[in-house]
Amino acid sequence: MERLRIAVQKSGRLFEDSIQMLKECNIQVDEGKDLLRVQSKNFPADILFLRNSDIPQYLEDGVAHVGIIGENLIAESAKDLEIAEKLGFSKCRLSIAVPKNSTYDGLSWLQGRRIATSYPHTLQSFLAKHNLQADLHVISGSVEIAPNIGLADAICDLVSSGNTLFQNGLEEKEILLKSEAVLAVNRHLTTELRAILDKLLFRIRAVLNAKSNKYILLNAPNDKLDEIIRILPGMKSPTLVPLALSGWSSVHTVIQEDKFWEIIHELKDKGAQGILVIPIEKMVL
Ligand code: AMP
Repeated sequence: MERLRIAVQKSGRLFEDSIQMLKECNIQVDEGKDLLRVQSKNFPADILFLRNSDIPQYLEDGVAHVGIIGENLIAESAKDLEIAEKLGFSKCRLSIAVPKNSTYDGLSWLQGRRIATSYPHTLQSFLAKHNLQADLHVISGSVEIAPNIGLADAICDLVSSGNTLFQNGLEEKEILLKSEAVLAVNRHLTTELRAILDKLLFRIRAVLNAKSNKYILLNAPNDKLDEIIRILPGMKSPTLVPLALSGWSSVHTVIQEDKFWEIIHELKDKGAQGILVIPIEKMVL
């Protein structure tokens, strides 16, 4: 029987969230120190702990079947991988930034400039698309320091909160791509491996749905129920349970967390009381 080989970053930003995601999918992984390969005891998968930048190649070669990596890395590696699901963590963007006091006045400013980056491939394609040529300085870390030490006029690097740019006196000017962690897949899986992947995806989607939704309960007078139900964007139709107090009901439904903040005041205005918002662990649609 085949086992799905799942590549995960050995160390670095994605490591903890990747392991957490597998745990939430109830795929048991013993994180033995320095282990490169771990068999899950309760799911037909092996976890391979690999260097981040090696994962796209291993995926293309079929050494790993699926991997949890950033979209930025897939773009830079230019490997032909399937993105089966976006995982909602490690969100960032690949941007061009310049010193705060620079004369930057649009893309053409970049023509002939020195740009420091760890993403030469993505940057080169971006520049080519805009008919620009620049002098790329490829460095593997601490890219933001390059303008300060006179190595470059601009940088092209990942930005998350923007703190690192700020601390180095840089300003973000152009966004080349937006990225988050994804489940990347080798395009030539056997039917048996596809079936295991489908099971994994089913679990991942249940976890992701649960994260963005909340279970909500509220009490309302019966004569306001119609209006309140109209405001609630539920999964199907809310559950109504009569309260012991006559003339009142309890309304239960599932809503997206961000929608909740939009409608909370409207619900209160319509007479909803005792509103409870409860996290959901798994949600299968
Ligand atoms: P921040 O200060 O939060 O904007 O983070 C920027 C620094 O963290 C830069 O040095 C980036 O190279 C790195 N970084 C930000 N987001 C990511 C990510 N999703 N994956 C890898 N490195 C990142």
